[in-house]
Amino acid sequence: MTAETATPQEFTFQAEIKQLLHLLSHSLYQNKEVAIRELVSNASDALDKFRHLTLTDSSLAGEDALEIHIEPSEDDRLLVIRDNGIGMTHDELVQNLGTIAHSGSLEFLSKLPKDGSGDVSLIGQFGVGFYSSFMLADTVEVRTRSYGDESGWTWKSDGTGSFSIEQTDGLDRGTQIRLHLKEDLDEFTREERLKYILTQYSTFVPHPIKLDGEHVNDQKPIWVEPKSSLSDEQYEKFYQYLSHRSTESPMWHFHLSADSPIQFNTILYCPPTNIEAMGFGRAEHGLHLCAKRILVQNDNRDLLPEYLRFIYGLVDSDDLPLNVSRESLMDNSVFRKISKILSKRVLGHLQKIADDTPEEYDTFYQQFGSVLREGISTDFENREQIGKLLRFQSSNDTNKTTSLDAYIERADDEQNQIYYIGGPDLRTIEKNPNLEIFRKKKLEVLYLTDPVDEFVLSNLFTYEGKSLTSIDSADIEFPGEKSEADKEDTDSETDDKESTDEPTSPGFDKVLRLFKEALGDRVEEVKQSKRLTDSPCCLVNPEGAASSQLQKVLSMANQDFEMAKRIFEINPDSPFIERLVTLSANDDHEPFIKQAGLQLFSNAMLLEGLTPDVDDMVDRMQTFMDELASNRSPLVT
Ligand code: ADP
Repeated sequence: MTAETATPQEFTFQAEIKQLLHLLSHSLYQNKEVAIRELVSNASDALDKFRHLTLTDSSLAGEDALEIHIEPSEDDRLLVIRDNGIGMTHDELVQNLGTIAHSGSLEFLSKLPKDGSGDVSLIGQFGVGFYSSFMLADTVEVRTRSYGDESGWTWKSDGTGSFSIEQTDGLDRGTQIRLHLKEDLDEFTREERLKYILTQYSTFVPHPIKLDGEHVNDQKPIWVEPKSSLSDEQYEKFYQYLSHRSTESPMWHFHLSADSPIQFNTILYCPPTNIEAMGFGRAEHGLHLCAKRILVQNDNRDLLPEYLRFIYGLVDSDDLPLNVSRESLMDNSVFRKISKILSKRVLGHLQKIADDTPEEYDTFYQQFGSVLREGISTDFENREQIGKLLRFQSSNDTNKTTSLDAYIERADDEQNQIYYIGGPDLRTIEKNPNLEIFRKKKLEVLYLTDPVDEFVLSNLFTYEGKSLTSIDSADIEFPGEKSEADKEDTDSETDDKESTDEPTSPGFDKVLRLFKEALGDRVEEVKQSKRLTDSPCCLVNPEGAASSQLQKVLSMANQDFEMAKRIFEINPDSPFIERLVTLSANDDHEPFIKQAGLQLFSNAMLLEGLTPDVDDMVDRMQTFMDELASNRSPLVT
C-alpha cells in the first residue's frame, strides 16, 4: 500500500492554542522532561480507553498486548512515543489537537508570566499536555489510526500558526507521536537519559512502557504491597505521579488495606498546599479507581465528597467488576460502600493527626480547613466527626487555635452554650462591647474572623449537647443563670414590667425613651444592659436572629436581604450615660440627648463593621464640634 494517498489539508490553530504554542516553544529554562511525561500519560489514557471498549465488545480485542513504546533514533534526532490504544479519527485529530478552544489552555496561559518563566510542569492539569511536545521538537508529527477506521492520518505542525492533516495508509491501530527534536536536544534520544526520565515520572503508569524493547516500569503496584515494605521515597514518587507535581512531597499519606465488608486497597495523599487558596480555581478531584489492579477511571469525582476534593490517591478493589462502566459507578453498591467507608477513614486519619501531632494538624488546617468545614453543611452523617476537626481562635489564647472539645474541657460544667463572636479582624472583635461581661465572668469566647465560620457554627447548631451561640444575641445564657429571654417570659407571667434585676431611675427611663424616639424603628427596642461594664451601649440581636456578621454577609450576597432590627442596650453605669441622666432633668437638653443617642447608635454600628447613616452622622459630628469649638476660649490658660 502506498502512503499519502491524498493531498494534505491545512488548518489554523485556535487563537489561544497559537499563543500557548508560542510560549512553549520559546521557553528556554523550562523542565522539558515533563513533555515526555505528558505524552506517555496520553498514550496510557488511549490504552485505557481502548481496553474499556473491549470490555463491552470483545471482538475488538486483538492479539497484541497493550503497550507504550519509546523509540529514540539518535541519527535522525527523532523520538517516537507509540501506543496501540484507541487512536484518533480524522475529525478527532482536528478537534483534539488544535482547532477547538479548550478552557484549560486559556486558564493555563493566564497563570503563566508572558516571559515564559512560569512553571510549565502543571500543564497536564489543564488538559493541554500534548502541546508541551513543542518544548522538545521543531516539528511534531502525529500518526494515528482509530480502532474503527480502515485508514489512518498524519497530523503535522511546526508549532507556528497551522497544522496539516493527510491520509496515511498502512498504520497499525493507535497513535505515534514523532518528535523531530530541536537542534540542541539530542539528549532526548539517549537511552540512559530517557530511562531516567521514565523511571522518574512514569513508573506507575498502569501499562508496560518499553524503551527500545526493554520494560522500564515492571514493578508491582505499590498499593497492594504491605506498608512495612514501602519506603517514604516510593510513597513520594507515587504521589508525584498521581498529582503531576514532580517536585513536591505530600503533606501526609494514608495507606489502607481493607478486607471486610469489602476488599480494597488505597493510598491517599494530601498535597502540601491548597492550590485553591493560591488562586488556581477549584481543585479537581484526583482519585484513580481500579478494579483488580486495572484502571477503571482517572480523576473520579464521587468516591470522596466535595469537601475532601483536595486529596489525591488510588483506590483498587477486588470486589468491583472489571467491566463496571464509569457511567454506572454510582449505581454500584460496592462502589457506594467503598465511598462511605473512605470518607469515614479519611476523617479518622485526620483525627489521629490532630490527636498525635497537633502542630502538624494546624498546618493541615491552615491549608485545607476552609474546604473541610464545608462538610458541616453537606455531610450530615459525619457532622460530629467533622465538628471535632474544626479549629477556631478564642479569647483563651489568641496566638493559637482551639478545638470545640478543648473549649468544652476548659468551660464550667454548668455552661450550656459555646459562645462565639464574629468580626472583620481580631482587633475589631476585641473591642466589641458585648465581650465585657464575658471578660468579667471569665467565660471563653471563640473569635471568628472568617464569616464562613459563622455559617459553619450556625449550621452545626449544637456540639456535644451545648448550643453554639453568638454573644451578640439575646439568647445568651450564663452558667448558673436563666437566659434573659427566659427571664422575660417569667417576668411577664408575673405581670412585672421590669425586665431587669436592678431598679432604674426615672431619669434613666427618660433617656431610654428619648433614644427610642430618636431612633424610631431603626431598633427593635432600647433597654438597660446587663452585659456591659464600661461601654455606654451595644447592639444585640433579638432571640433567634442570625449574628450581625452573618447578617452582614447575607446582605452583601443578596440585595433584598434585610438586616434584623436590633436591640439597643444601654449601660446605666457608664459615666457618659450617668451624665445624660443628670442632664435629662432639664427639658431643654432633650434635643442634645437625642442627638447623643443617635451618635451612640452609629458608634455601635461602626464597631461591628456596619455602615451607619453616614450623611446624618457627619452632620451630627460637625454640630458637636461646632459647639465644642464655640465654647472654647482663644486664650489657653
Ligand atoms: P488531555 O490529554 O488532558 O485531554 P492533551 O492536550 O494532552 O489533553 O490531549 C488532547 C486530546 O487529544 C486528548 O484528550 C485525547 O482525546 C487526544 N489524544 C492525545 N494523545 C492521544 C493518544 N496518544 N491517543 C489517542 N488520543 C490522544
